[in-house]
Amino acid sequence: MWPTYTDSTKSISWIIGVPVVILVGFLIFNSYSISKKQSDASMSTTESLSIQVIPIMHATAIVQWENTAIYIDPTGGAEVFEGKPPADIVLVTDIHGDHLSVETLNAVVGEAELIAPQAVKDQLPENIASRVRVLANGETMSLGGFDILAMPMYNLPESADSRHAKGRGNGYIIARDGFRVYIAGDTAGTPEMRAAKDIDIAFVPMNLPYTMGVEEAADAVLDFKPRTVYPYHYRGPDGLADVAKFKALVNAGNPGIEVILANWYPQ
Ligand code: ZN
Repeated sequence: MWPTYTDSTKSISWIIGVPVVILVGFLIFNSYSISKKQSDASMSTTESLSIQVIPIMHATAIVQWENTAIYIDPTGGAEVFEGKPPADIVLVTDIHGDHLSVETLNAVVGEAELIAPQAVKDQLPENIASRVRVLANGETMSLGGFDILAMPMYNLPESADSRHAKGRGNGYIIARDGFRVYIAGDTAGTPEMRAAKDIDIAFVPMNLPYTMGVEEAADAVLDFKPRTVYPYHYRGPDGLADVAKFKALVNAGNPGIEVILANWYPQ
């Protein structure tokens, strides 16, 4: 049995002002929308952007970015995606069962673009493997107006036989219109994560011994300073990680980083 975690942030609204960007977000029933308005004093242009985060389970989520539904590591079978917008882009980070489900991919991929590292493609039956656009660490793909960058994700200290050896799996940074969303994948607080720039929304894992502890996760987040961070992928052999502690550590170091505790472990 896993301890249950109750989402106490069903309804939140917030405003952050930064020099040229105003972000306004709402969290309602586990989904989260963000609007971005940019105003240039000399041009008085206004641009708004709608991004909705829909946590599904553990490492699985949908990022609804305007009219594009981006599925992250779809697992859990077709039923968990019932009633959700169909996938336009599917990103798979790694080969383990909490990230890669052939059954679920078959159910949800439809006409979507499917992006994964080579190691994931190698695990797939031909009907899906033929659909994969392989992206390796450090490579960027342009797709439907998005730039999708594959980030390294790996355990520290590095070793060839670790659960997540560098080079096999991909984290992703998805960027469009100056807005950047970072899906970290199964990783420690690597130098690459700590050096990430201009991240608006980040998804950061914290479950030992698979990724990292909440202290390391908070320390890494304080280095790369996303505007908003979702702890995700935080169930381990001892239950759920202490994400409230993660939030407290982040906000003690930087009260300007919004930490959103969503319910990633529904019944
Ligand atoms: Zn995992």
